[in-house]
Amino acid sequence: MPVSTLQSYLAGQWVEGVGDAQPLQSAIDGSVVAQLRGPAPNLADAADFARTRGGPALASMTFHQRATLVKKLALAIAEQKETLYSLSCHTGATRADSWIDIEGGTGTMLVLASKTKRELPDEHHILDGDVEQLSRNGSFLGQHLYTTPPGVVVQVNAYNFPIWGMLEKLAPALLAGLPVIAKTATVGSYLAEACARIIVSSGLLPEGAFQFVAGPVGDLFDPLGVHDTIAFTGSASTAGRLRHHAAVLERGAALNAEQDSLNCSILGPDAKPGTPEFDLFVREVQREMTTKAGQKCTAIRRVLVPDRHLDAVVEAVSVRLGKVRIGDPREESTRMGALAGQAQREDVRERVGALLGEADLVCGDPERLDASVDAVNGAYLAPLLLVARDADSAQRVHDTEAFGPVSTVVGYRDVGHAVSLANRGGGSLVGSLFTHDPDVAVEVALGAAPWHGRFMVMDRDAAGESTGHGSPLAHLTHGGPGRAGGGEELGGVRAIKHLMQRSALQGSPRMLAAVGRRWLPGAPERTPSRHPFQAPFGELQLGDTFNTPTRTVSKEDVEHFARFTGDTFYAHMDEAAVADHPFFPGRVAHGYLLLSFAAGLFVSPEKGPTLANFGLDNLRFMKPVVFGDTISVRLTVKSKKPRNPEYGEVRWDVEIRVGESGEIAAAYELLTLNAYRLDGAE
Ligand code: NAP
Repeated sequence: MPVSTLQSYLAGQWVEGVGDAQPLQSAIDGSVVAQLRGPAPNLADAADFARTRGGPALASMTFHQRATLVKKLALAIAEQKETLYSLSCHTGATRADSWIDIEGGTGTMLVLASKTKRELPDEHHILDGDVEQLSRNGSFLGQHLYTTPPGVVVQVNAYNFPIWGMLEKLAPALLAGLPVIAKTATVGSYLAEACARIIVSSGLLPEGAFQFVAGPVGDLFDPLGVHDTIAFTGSASTAGRLRHHAAVLERGAALNAEQDSLNCSILGPDAKPGTPEFDLFVREVQREMTTKAGQKCTAIRRVLVPDRHLDAVVEAVSVRLGKVRIGDPREESTRMGALAGQAQREDVRERVGALLGEADLVCGDPERLDASVDAVNGAYLAPLLLVARDADSAQRVHDTEAFGPVSTVVGYRDVGHAVSLANRGGGSLVGSLFTHDPDVAVEVALGAAPWHGRFMVMDRDAAGESTGHGSPLAHLTHGGPGRAGGGEELGGVRAIKHLMQRSALQGSPRMLAAVGRRWLPGAPERTPSRHPFQAPFGELQLGDTFNTPTRTVSKEDVEHFARFTGDTFYAHMDEAAVADHPFFPGRVAHGYLLLSFAAGLFVSPEKGPTLANFGLDNLRFMKPVVFGDTISVRLTVKSKKPRNPEYGEVRWDVEIRVGESGEIAAAYELLTLNAYRLDGAE
């Protein structure tokens, strides 16, 4: 069968690179899977195409529209996952490894799309935090907000997860309204190209929203500058080169670097042999060494254990490693496949050689493997466990990444020593601790957190549902300080905000309400023609206000409420006990009574489009209400968010005011569900 030449998708067309073809070999047996030429022509035009075509089309959509798009795209890729699995095995990945790459990738897109719908407004910008009052009378305010810059996100991906790496960056960019140019690593690029073809042929994305580069970057970076982001994943050495690129240094492109990391896992001093935590630790070390043949940026490279348990750990991990079936990744019984290629295996062997200068090999042989595989043409390697000879003088274990099934055990004296060893990684993507002792957890987690992007504390209680040390999750930030690149990705909707511009906006309540599309106290109020609870969702406008009649709060009301609810707290019931209270002038009304009276004042009792109250946010009681005080309520539409075809959410700004002066006794935001139709949801 003729070998296909991989192509890039640029400016709406699939194009081949120029120059000699380079074969891309299967990690299983060295057979040629595809071939790749040099840089594609006109790479420098890709950024302009993205900015002028894809960018405006995405920017015209709201977050919710983009979330719908990203969800559909994830499902379209998932539908063709078997095409991807059939190629993924040639990267050496077992079905379970490929699942992380393929379904981990589409799963990440789905989580981010769903969180966007739930947590971001159906708008084009995001308000960040509360309004800052900058003047005494509130006529001059500040508000932070995120907007979409007119740029492009250029991804540069590592070879180990060709699909997850592309999709976990694609989803946040599209959700932020930014077009993407995805450059895949050469090794395994046939897999990323297959995924790119699914994305393009789905026809879901506006032209220019997604371009794909197979092969070298050529002059791709030359037009990059302010508003553009280079989202890099790979080795520290390539990241170092990109940091010095003129696009970053001189023209203001942002660089987010996710690079290699010497991640550690710590066995707590309490987790001695025989405890559940010891067994969990041993299992996790073995799993992290052998999943994806150890080619995970988050894999455990440094195994930190109490000196007194070092031998027991080495023995238990070695026994487990001995049981891992290494073989052809296409076979169901195989638990560990091959490395991505021969060059990668050579690189790992070289780095193990460097580690052996200060550590002893206690399990596995870098040159021998007992497995029925094509050991000559395939890229197989036995898992290799090392033990550092001297914990304090060993340095390579903390700075040399052997990107394969390789970990080094280091003994520690006490918890403080364990923390200092953990932090000698110089900044890591992830660390973990196996302990059932909260005191150990406090000391280690707080000591190690500044050096880690993510830190997992594992014990018997969490084990059953844990996603494990090495899994970056769409919900949590991925990235680490220092050696790990200093970048940050994922983390729920933070992933989207990272790519947007945050600005501080200043002005009057009226102006900030208009720009932010959220009503603020001090902005104009509008008196609607009917009670706002009787207006369907679409009719309600920001600023629609209902001022209620008044109600006097009596002693009998308070005592009745106390008896009825059982809340006979002394401040409501006992004159003598409250006499020396630091801030109540005497017996006061219950805060919950005020909330109930407020509802009694502002609801419109007839059946109508207001379906239900589903919560209160930001409730504060600000001034006590005493017997005989008169209260009234101001209820104003603050913001609206469609939820489904039948109804949407309305956020109301509520103030309970007291007395002639109208001082605020309580303030909160009321959340209701309001139907689009007058007679309620169908
Ligand atoms: P790499 O050699 O640094 O390559 C990474 C990417 O950079 C590839 O797409 C590569 O393209 C590209 N590249 C190389 N030179 C470049 C240049 N001068 N300008 C622009 N792009 C350039 O890393 P790798 O070997 O693919 O990946 C393994 C490493 O990635 C490991 O060290 C691992 O720890 C790290 N990693 C980190 C994370 C993380 O999230 N922190 C995740 C996965 C992997 P070509 O392949 O075409 O040269």
